[in-house]
Amino acid sequence: MQLVDIGANLTHPAFQADLPQVLERARAAGVATIIATGTTVEETRKALALDFLTTAGVHPHHARECGPETIPALRDLAKDPRVVAIGECGLDFNRNYSPHPDQEEWFRKQIELGLEAGKPLFLHSRDAHPRFARILKDMKVRKAVAHCFTGEREELRACLDLGLHIGITGWICDERRGRHLLELVREVPRDRLLLETDSPYLTPRDMRPQPKARRNEPAFLPHILRTVARALGRPAEEIAAETTRNATQLFGIDESRSSSAAQRPLAA
Ligand SMILES: [Zn+2]
Repeated sequence: MQLVDIGANLTHPAFQADLPQVLERARAAGVATIIATGTTVEETRKALALDFLTTAGVHPHHARECGPETIPALRDLAKDPRVVAIGECGLDFNRNYSPHPDQEEWFRKQIELGLEAGKPLFLHSRDAHPRFARILKDMKVRKAVAHCFTGEREELRACLDLGLHIGITGWICDERRGRHLLELVREVPRDRLLLETDSPYLTPRDMRPQPKARRNEPAFLPHILRTVARALGRPAEEIAAETTRNATQLFGIDESRSSSAAQRPLAA
């Protein structure tokens, strides 16, 4: 089994103390490739300094901190072949850490950059449907993943109509708020499903025992895979092969690289 974790916040302080061990456990668990999530220009730079595959972008929470230097900096970073997508970018009307007009402005600018750079978009949307879908439609985005999809049926249909890939996290393992995903995941075409941990966040709630400090990590991706496979009533090996193929194609991941640099344990 060779899985791809398409979204892990590897530069998060929660991983600072034991990153080499975290990567080693992931490899041992069959997670051959991890794509770090770039949530700011600075975090993207850190991911590249650690020699990860990464997305390059600014999370909507940080939209208010963007300025005239933001897009040129991201454009520069995107020239690096290890940058496999632009994002994460999008709208978050749940926490509202940045005003909506700022979120929309920097979402659009990052979409433009993705289209210009010919890279897929790594999209975040929380409580922002249908505005999120409207913007993607207006800007004719197709090559993208709705990362950590948690929405309802209507939102899923809108994303699928746009041609988006769907990223499923451990949210689907949450009996309080993720039950609907067990049914909805059946509606995602086989060639558009992707798996991710969004670690260190979203530790699968049904993992026993729960990890220390409830920190999620890429090694837990097979747990999410098994939950998805049960929901689909299909063998986990098949879902693993399909989601890996989807990730490899969408992000243009070079197989030789993914097993070496992206997973190379760092010197302790
Ligand atoms: Zn996100």
